[in-house]
Amino acid sequence: MEVPFGKPIEEVYDGVQTGPVLGSGISGVVRLVTHKATGVKYAVKCLDLGLVDTEAGLMQLREEIFIMCQLDHPNIVRLEEVYESHSEIYLVQELCLGGELFDRLDEQPDYHYTEAECARLIKQMLCAVRYLHSKGIIHRDLKLENFLFSSSAQDSELKMIDFGLSKHFRYGEIHQEAVGTPYTVAPEVIRGRYDERCDIWAIGVIAFLLLSGDPPFGGCGGSESLMTVRANILNGSFEFEPAEIWDLVSPTAKEFINTLLVTNPKLRPTATVAQNLTWLEEWAHRSKTDSDNILNPNVVRALVNFKEFSDMRKLLCEVLSFTLLPEQIKDLRKEFETLDIDGSGEISLLSLKQVLVTNAGAGSLGALTEEEVEDIFNAMRVKKTETRIRWHEFIAAGLSQCEVDDRNLRLAFDRLDNDHKGVSIKKQQELHYNTFFSIQRYFDWIRYLHFYISIYVLISFPI
Ligand code: ADP
Repeated sequence: MEVPFGKPIEEVYDGVQTGPVLGSGISGVVRLVTHKATGVKYAVKCLDLGLVDTEAGLMQLREEIFIMCQLDHPNIVRLEEVYESHSEIYLVQELCLGGELFDRLDEQPDYHYTEAECARLIKQMLCAVRYLHSKGIIHRDLKLENFLFSSSAQDSELKMIDFGLSKHFRYGEIHQEAVGTPYTVAPEVIRGRYDERCDIWAIGVIAFLLLSGDPPFGGCGGSESLMTVRANILNGSFEFEPAEIWDLVSPTAKEFINTLLVTNPKLRPTATVAQNLTWLEEWAHRSKTDSDNILNPNVVRALVNFKEFSDMRKLLCEVLSFTLLPEQIKDLRKEFETLDIDGSGEISLLSLKQVLVTNAGAGSLGALTEEEVEDIFNAMRVKKTETRIRWHEFIAAGLSQCEVDDRNLRLAFDRLDNDHKGVSIKKQQELHYNTFFSIQRYFDWIRYLHFYISIYVLISFPI
């Protein structure tokens, strides 16, 4: 993948070298930066190219960027832009303000979560993992540290970060390299032949850790030696101890963990099967009421109207959908969850039919026919070969429900601006980015004022 130089990131963002440090990892430091034109804050991960000695290492880096560019899921951190200087690659990411899952675990009473809260978190992790697997990606390095909370709210969503070790795979293909982090690493990874089920093992370890405060095989800051942790993992030997904690945990939670922590990966469930295990079915929905399963009538109306939009107007909605900030799409996120019946992080035609036909029948719109729902589905789908609606395609269709403001227009303009990078994004074949760039060509000859007026007109009046 080509990541050429272009406009220096410092011209677009403040704080790239001096902003507060949010954290640091193997590849470099992550800083809080501010988009100069709009004041919007982001996290910039600076990848120090000096630390990459080999061509293979550089390839791995490019792979991480390529993978992140393709992902569009509510529980996976969004990569907004990519820049490159002679010494660094900069990944501009959605900012997660809620801190690390690891730190919040420490803040819980007795250093562990309640079952309902744990189930809510595991459900989100599995949703992200299922999505990754459906795209042919294994994470291989899942651990508590890879999950951040989007905001400081109690019910904040989790976001998966860091794909440094992920790579594409074909189902059933066996990978040889042994990678991973001691306390969540799966036995088959230690043995050297593994596939996507190693991520399911990691989820089992995380569930155990969230429910009890301790990892099942040791190795998370505990006193066990690495050899002991390794042997425990290879034997799959763990106990639901201490009793004072585990006696209070439901049998279905223990069954869930036992089902995931099976040493033979072939006997381990897939992410989709794990999502439907009894414990998650019972606990993850506890806080949900019946009204949570009903779509907001305004959103239904927005979706119905969207299918009448001209192609250009749809494209603009798509462009703007990528500029919306978490607080602007909070409500749509709830509606998306209602439509994502199978927990895949995308919307299938079947789910859309199921929810829309019922909702519209019960609401003020009158009953929608299956054909009408299919039309809505087709209107939302940017890439006609895809069989599901992605998160941002849904946001684009529901855009009229969001307060689009000056910042969004500026951001949209800024990202369409010719001198900008995001070329790595352009290189990939995803259509919504292609639409982004086809608009870029379309608007090549105008500057900000024209853009501003055009976008207002196109969004406000049907054409
Ligand atoms: P590495 O891949 O180099 O190990 P990470 O992606 O894990 O780096 O990031 C290191 C730390 O930076 C994280 O543990 C987290 O605290 C912080 N961080 C990373 N991404 C974000 C983000 N999008 N928003 C807020 N903080 C972040």
